[in-house]
Amino acid sequence: MQESLHQAAHPNDVIRSVQAQFSLHPLLNVMPVHRHNQHGRFEHGIAHMKTPTPAEWPPALARFGFLGREEVATRHHQDWSGLPATAPWGIVYPRNTEEVAVVLKWCHENKTPLVTQGGLTGLAGGAHPSPDCLVLSTERLCGIRHVDPVMCTLTAWAGTKLQDIQHAAQADGLYFPIDLGARGSCTIGGNLATNAGGNKVIRYGMTREQVLGLECVLADGSVLSGMNQLLKNNTGYDLKQLFIGSEGTLGVITQVVLRLQAKPRHQQSAMCRCENFDQVLATLQHCRKRLGPGLLAFEVMWPEFIQCMTDGLPKLRYPFAQKNGFHLLIEEGHFSNSADSGSLTACLGELLEFAVLNEVVIAHSEQDNLDLWAIRDSVAEYSQFLGPVIGFDIGLPASTMVATTQNMVAAIRQQWADAVVLFFGHIGDSNLHVVVHVPGLGHEEQPHHAVEALVYPLVAQVNGSVSAEHGVGLIKKPYLSCSRQPQEIALMQTIKNALDPHHLLNPGKIFDRSASSDKSPSLPP
Ligand SMILES: Cc1cc2nc3c(=O)[nH]c(=O)nc-3n(C[C@H](O)[C@H](O)[C@H](O)COP(=O)(O)OP(=O)(O)OC[C@H]3O[C@@H](n4cnc5c(N)ncnc54)[C@H](O)[C@@H]3O)c2cc1C
Repeated sequence: MQESLHQAAHPNDVIRSVQAQFSLHPLLNVMPVHRHNQHGRFEHGIAHMKTPTPAEWPPALARFGFLGREEVATRHHQDWSGLPATAPWGIVYPRNTEEVAVVLKWCHENKTPLVTQGGLTGLAGGAHPSPDCLVLSTERLCGIRHVDPVMCTLTAWAGTKLQDIQHAAQADGLYFPIDLGARGSCTIGGNLATNAGGNKVIRYGMTREQVLGLECVLADGSVLSGMNQLLKNNTGYDLKQLFIGSEGTLGVITQVVLRLQAKPRHQQSAMCRCENFDQVLATLQHCRKRLGPGLLAFEVMWPEFIQCMTDGLPKLRYPFAQKNGFHLLIEEGHFSNSADSGSLTACLGELLEFAVLNEVVIAHSEQDNLDLWAIRDSVAEYSQFLGPVIGFDIGLPASTMVATTQNMVAAIRQQWADAVVLFFGHIGDSNLHVVVHVPGLGHEEQPHHAVEALVYPLVAQVNGSVSAEHGVGLIKKPYLSCSRQPQEIALMQTIKNALDPHHLLNPGKIFDRSASSDKSPSLPP
């Protein structure tokens, strides 16, 4: 057992924690795994544009830093989805709304497809460039414009890094609750465009819930300014919600107005171990009742995940003697003066007393807290010892999780008997991450499509979601109909046609122009 992680037979023995904080580290120094597949097809119907020589660079775009294909930095050739690197036709770096509007008007007049890139940390291929597109990078469209500490709002340019938003809120004693491992690289515009989730969704909701207003530029270059600052504003359709989660297919978000929260004075984390998933759900139910809005995170790691991560990464400080069972990482935030409100200890004590939980540890220093979270956050490092993996970000009704995960393992192992299949996720949000690795196969040989064709129909069977938080982009486009009805997809296409009739904004992302080309897998009987 680790020295400073206190293992408790009963929570009264548990040593209280001091203020717990997440480490704000920049994006991990792991490169996206190359994914070799056929999703990188681009169906915008625009003739292939040849590489422009500098003499052919459009003068109208010169003041936005236009660079032609050969000059585009390789970091703009791919995002974190692992799709093969592709050099776009060109790139621009506008610095304000007016400049974005000029760029989009130029694209509209010249029928040039445009792909918006933020921090390029997206995992679904939404920001992946096509060879014919102009990339609009939001790198220079950044900065905090205003923080209102009375009404708890923050206004920023869309290219501002999530971490800078968090710091700006903190500087005024407030808190922006969206937090992802990619916080040092991803942008708030990308967070809105993907409706990003993260670890605190159980308490504060997705990015969608944090947005009061936004400004965006439409496909024809017109500016839609909806910089609402009011918490209550029932004046017709909530247009901002159209753009949130639309992955850059309906407009380019230029500015945002965000809601801020009061930061809990103290955060206290605990790791628990139990035997089965019914006990996981019983713990979730009890924590929701006992901690109320104090429940900040409820993360669950399956037994194989714990075994694999702690074996593969010996630097992790694993707190229990036994590695079997489900592991829960629970975080409470509270406003009392003492670092320990007593609520988490009491709540987990009751669960120990009724034998719902087998073991509990509570961090009693900031380092302990970081060490417990390091076990969950080790997912960013599995490729280092496991090799290339096939990752999933699915949503499942809680009551179906055990059967569905068992069916997935059975289906995958029927074809690849020694496949590694790991599960972990934000179970309070019905969000499960699945990691599959077929030993002996390199990056390009991992059977992405064959495994996807096994997993997604099982998700569809229980009315789950093929993308709980990462978005659809190119990677999940073929499986959209596993989670959305034909009428829903048709309505999405109607909205797309209305706002972007020439399909110039992120063409071919989420769905193709015609519904009939959406190749969905056949569902098992
Ligand atoms: C280590 C790591 C951890 C992650 N953890 C999480 C997590 O916990 N939860 C989660 O939800 N995601 C997570 N992600 C995925 C990713 O960070 C999010 O999807 C993030 O919101 C993407 O932001 P970005 O600025 O990098 O966007 P990009 O990757 O640049 O773009 C993503 C999409 O948004 C569009 N877009 C970007 N900016 C704009 C704009 N201004 N206007 C219109 N469209 C725009 C792009 O065209 C594209 O479709 C993680 C990624 C990594 C690498």
